[in-house]
Amino acid sequence: MQQYGLIVIGGGPGGYEAAAIAASQGVKVALIEKDLLGGTCLNRGCVPTKCLCAAAERLHAIQSAAGFGITVDGSVIADYGAAVSRAVGVIDTLRTDVEALLKDVDIFHGEARLSSGHTVVVGANFLKGRQIIIATGSKPAPLPIDGAEYTLTSDEFLMCRELPGRVAVIGGGVIGLEFASVIAAYGREVTVLEFCPEILPGIDAEIAKRLRTYLSRRGVKFVLNARVTAVSESRTVTYEAKGKTAAVESDLVICAVGRRPVLPEGLAEAGVTLNERGFISVDDRYETASPGIFAIGDVNGRCMLAHAATAQTRVVTGQTAVFGAVPSVVFTLPECASVGMKTADAEGLKASKIPYSANAKAQASGDDAGMLKLVYRESDLTVVGCQAVGAHAGDLIAEATIAIDSAYTLRRLALDTVSAHPGLSELLQAAAAAALS
Ligand code: FAD
Ligand code: NAD
Repeated sequence: MQQYGLIVIGGGPGGYEAAAIAASQGVKVALIEKDLLGGTCLNRGCVPTKCLCAAAERLHAIQSAAGFGITVDGSVIADYGAAVSRAVGVIDTLRTDVEALLKDVDIFHGEARLSSGHTVVVGANFLKGRQIIIATGSKPAPLPIDGAEYTLTSDEFLMCRELPGRVAVIGGGVIGLEFASVIAAYGREVTVLEFCPEILPGIDAEIAKRLRTYLSRRGVKFVLNARVTAVSESRTVTYEAKGKTAAVESDLVICAVGRRPVLPEGLAEAGVTLNERGFISVDDRYETASPGIFAIGDVNGRCMLAHAATAQTRVVTGQTAVFGAVPSVVFTLPECASVGMKTADAEGLKASKIPYSANAKAQASGDDAGMLKLVYRESDLTVVGCQAVGAHAGDLIAEATIAIDSAYTLRRLALDTVSAHPGLSELLQAAAAAALS
């Protein structure tokens, strides 16, 4: 039996960060990973998708160069396979960084199983930890329909090196939209089938609708209120919408309808329980029902984002007691981003809206399609949320995140803060000023 201060199961952004922090605090740490270090985020999530989004952005910049008086003389060849190969290179480089981060951690390669008495078994090794962190992540949720075997998960799609002519995407959530945005940029026909009345059900409905409009202009087709019932071997997707049955012909079908936790064996033996959604049940310190055993990241289902997993490690390792608002960004073309509260979240919230077209930087760069909504509490004019759709929306809401965490008032944001001109952050200030006027 090998003794450790901390055993971490899973080497994704939650697990590797926790292991590295604990090791830097002088704790003897073991990390167990059954696949590749870096987890979903690095190997089949954030990083490869953002590499493809970046390629799509370059392509779009070339295609829209004419408006700036730039003529691209000759044909533009967009090699999708080359973009995938580039992503593999980026992933390998970043994995080296993760390995370097874990230099003081004992790494075990294999599938970990929990046992009683704070024991973890991996292969022939029996490890005992004063504390254990479960950071085993999530996997694509299956769709229980006929022909589900003819659909690709996000993991499988990211391994494709060619894009066929027609792609159907089941699920208008974050993954489905990021993929659809890339596929459309490469000039392929792409149809998104979404079960709900609007894409991105968790996002402010007005912002989501605008994103749908912008993506439609870039060629993405949408079918809303669509209940997919079957996929045929020839990749025809049959669905019901408004009481009628219809079909989308395609050459490749991607299914992105949410994610489920990856649960290690032995949870019951270790005294760890699940919540009603099937994720590991944790308290506000991410401790499970078994004292000394924690669960962070996707596996607890609180917020399935890489930076949320990382923020949770800071609580478990005692670096902070609580963390602030967690921003989320959909890396479509254009981006869509949200932080804090939406007006629909509570009574007494109001939003000040500013179109990108009112901003000099947006006009200068030709990216004037967009909108920012600044959400504030009517009673004391405190900033509590921000949603945006448009170029660099993800960067734009970073400032709003600080404003929310610091409980800025509209007055402080509009009058005491100075934004560089011309810059997109002037949108935030303009939204605050408009609310005060
Ligand atoms: P994971 O990253 O899933 O890591 C868990 C690790 O545990 C895996 O490596 C797994 O092999 C290992 N493991 C599981 N069980 C065992 C076991 N029994 N023994 C040993 N090892 C085990 N988030 C963002 O914030 N931004 C994005 O842009 C973004 N893009 C995404 C794009 C896609 C296509 C997908 C699928 C996800 C994306 N996400 C994004 C979500 C992000 O990837 C996850 O929120 C994040 O990876 C969760 O981190 P984690 O550490 O909890 O789990
Ligand atoms: P999601 O929950 O974002 O979206 C799933 C979508 O599928 C929803 O809109 C849902 O209404 C729809 N849906 C469900 N069943 C359906 C059906 N039968 N037919 C048609 N539509 C159906 O899930 P996802 O897109 O799979 O992504 C999973 C998680 O991964 C996200 O919640 C997010 O936390 C994370 N992620 C984050 C990023 C990012 O931060 N940029 C990128 C990708 C993934």
